[in-house]
Amino acid sequence: MQHYSIAVIPGDGIGPEVMDEGLKVLKAIEESHGGVRFACDEKPWNCDYYLKNGRMMPENGLDVLKNYDLILLGAIGAPGVPDHISVWELILPIRRAFQQYVNLRPVKLLRGLESPLRYKNHDDLDFVVVRENTEGEYSNMGGRMHQGTPYEMAVQNNVFTRYGTERIIKYAYDLAEKRPKKRLTAATKSNGINHSMPFWDEIVKEVGKDHPGIQTNLYHIDALAAYFITRPEEFDVVVASNLFGDILTDLGAAVVGGLGLAPSANINPERNFPSMFEPIHGSAPDIAGKGIANPIAQIWSLSMMMDHLGHYEIGKVILDAIEQVLIDGKVQTPDLGGRATTKELGDEIVRQIHLAT
Ligand code: ATP
Ligand code: MG
Repeated sequence: MQHYSIAVIPGDGIGPEVMDEGLKVLKAIEESHGGVRFACDEKPWNCDYYLKNGRMMPENGLDVLKNYDLILLGAIGAPGVPDHISVWELILPIRRAFQQYVNLRPVKLLRGLESPLRYKNHDDLDFVVVRENTEGEYSNMGGRMHQGTPYEMAVQNNVFTRYGTERIIKYAYDLAEKRPKKRLTAATKSNGINHSMPFWDEIVKEVGKDHPGIQTNLYHIDALAAYFITRPEEFDVVVASNLFGDILTDLGAAVVGGLGLAPSANINPERNFPSMFEPIHGSAPDIAGKGIANPIAQIWSLSMMMDHLGHYEIGKVILDAIEQVLIDGKVQTPDLGGRATTKELGDEIVRQIHLAT
C-alpha cells in the first residue's frame, strides 16, 4: 500500500466546485484500484481568506505545504481582489519556492470530442507544451517611473538565467526522447527580442547536440501560434518561456475543446519538493455558483498526478474514464454542448472508474 499526503487548495469561484469532483475521483481510485491511499487536507487559502486576513495564505503557508507529497489546486481569483495579489501571493510563490520549474500542459484531443479545427484523427492532435514556470517574462523585476509627467513609463525585465533556461530545455528534450515523434519545437522571438531570445535559442542548440535523435525546430512565437491551428500534427514536445507558454496553452486548450478540459502539472523534477496539479482555467466568476463548470480539467490533472507518481496504470484508468464519458456523450456540461451539472459529470466519471475494475 502506498500512502500520499495531499494539500488541497480548492480556491475561489468554480475552483471548489470542480475540486469536489476531483476528490470523489480520488476516493473512487482508492476503492476500486487498491494499492494507493490519499490523505487529503483542505486549506482554505483563497480570496475570502485574503479579505479577512490581508494575505492569501498564513505566514508559514509554504512551510506547511512543504510537508506534503503533493498539492492540488482548484482555481484562484475573485472579482474583488486584483490578480496581482491573488496570483502573486499564492500560486507564484508556490511554484517558485518548490522549484516547480516545469509546467506540463498536454494538448490532446480526447476521443469522443471534436476539435473546432478540421482534424478528425485524434493522433493528429496530441502533443505536450513544456512551459518554463519560474522566470522569464514573469520576473517581478521592474517598476514605474516619472509618474505624473509626460515621460511616465513602466519597465518590466525579462530574466533568463543560464541555469533556469538549461534545466527547462533539458527536461523538454528528455521528454521528447520518451515520446513517439522524436521532435522538439522551441518557441522563440529572437527577431524582436534581441537579448534574451537569442540566448534561449543558443541554449536550445547546445542542449540539442546531446540529443541527435531528436529533430529540433525553432519557430517565432507568432508563426508558432498560427501553426497550432494550421499544422498541429507536426508537434510532439513544444518548449516555451513562461509568457509564451501561457499564451500557447490557452490556444492549445481551445483547439482541443475548451478551457474546461485542459489540465496542467507544475512539476519539481528533482522531487525534493511537492509538485502541484491544477486545471489551467481560472475561477470563471461568470459561471461560479451555478454548478455547471466542467470538472474534466481538474480530474485530468489527477491523471497527470498519477503519472507523476509512476502509477501509469491508474493515470490511464482516469483518462480512459473521462474519454468513455465523452464517447457516450450523454452527460455533458454546457461548455460541451450538454445540460449536465458539474456533479452529474463527476458522478459519471466515477461510475466509469468503478466499471473499469
Ligand atoms: P485567469 O486569469 O484566472 O486565467 P480568466 O479570466 O482567464 O482567469 P478563466 O476563469 O480561465 O478566465 O475562464 C475564462 C472563461 O472560460 C470563463 O469565463 C468561463 O466561461 C470559461 N471556463 C473556464 N473554465 C471553465 C470550466 N471548467 N467549465 C466551463 N467553462 C469554463
Ligand atoms: Mg486565463
